[in-house]
Amino acid sequence: MAEYPQTAIELHDWFPTDQACRDYLVRLRWPEGVRCPDCGAAEVWSMTPPFYRCAGCGYDFTVTAGTLFADTHKPLRLWLEAIWYVTNQKSGASALGVQRVLGLGSYRTAWNWLHKLRRAMVRPGRDRLSGLVEVDEAFLGGPRPGKRGRGAAGKTLVLVAAQADGRKIGRIRLARIADASAASLEYAVQQVVEPGTRIQTDDWSGYNHLNARGYVHEVIQPTAELGENLLPRVNLTVSLLKRWLLGTHQGAVRPAHLDYYLDEFTFRFNRRTSRSRGLLFYRLLQQAVALQPVRGKDLVGGRSLPRPEPTTNSG
Ligand SMILES: [Zn+2]
Repeated sequence: MAEYPQTAIELHDWFPTDQACRDYLVRLRWPEGVRCPDCGAAEVWSMTPPFYRCAGCGYDFTVTAGTLFADTHKPLRLWLEAIWYVTNQKSGASALGVQRVLGLGSYRTAWNWLHKLRRAMVRPGRDRLSGLVEVDEAFLGGPRPGKRGRGAAGKTLVLVAAQADGRKIGRIRLARIADASAASLEYAVQQVVEPGTRIQTDDWSGYNHLNARGYVHEVIQPTAELGENLLPRVNLTVSLLKRWLLGTHQGAVRPAHLDYYLDEFTFRFNRRTSRSRGLLFYRLLQQAVALQPVRGKDLVGGRSLPRPEPTTNSG
């Protein structure tokens, strides 16, 4: 059962000190008891706070070791405040807003924090879409669509997958792709959609071999009816995403950073019906302690799709 503050006043009541923050993170990170982050041993000694020592390998660590908060010199209370602020901005937070609300001296620090948090918005090992999923690609960052299967200058191609929830949109996944070739599309689909899923696409040839990749592929044929919305869920997702990038971020998203914005959009979209802002705070914090540390320099170049895992027969 998730326990989290519901209001800003509760937030401050729950976390009056950094020790209170650490105690909370310990429960989030190790619900079954503290474990050594290095060797995984469960026999761990409590040393002078905030330190623990592994009885197995002798490693001294704290609850933030190996998480997004690992190298921070700022109080944890400030981080929790940042997460509260970011998850409470309905349409997205800006670095300037983070700097202002937290009273950070440097815009650069605020920008780094925000991008670290965006990275935490994608749950490590998150599950893939299933059931009925609409898939299409969209060019972001330019006024005109480019030619399919070719790169379009100044634009980024993104695979958009939207799971059906009745007539509505369930969860979505977004993945940046190099081009609309079959190889790129199939690889991205495999990252975000469970095998065996019913996938609807248009008649683009890049999707021709999805059946051979273990999916139940349906081509939605264009009909004579002009303007018919063939893939309504995915089309709506794309227009909301474009509006969000233009509105919240004034379109000022550099292609190198686009992945982080896609992560934030996905996080917010998939939780858009969550009535409790406290639950978003809880989820983001939970994901932040499950993450490997992010160094500032790693943020600059953006993030690409993980490489394919070696093929195994285990499914
Ligand atoms: Zn150990």
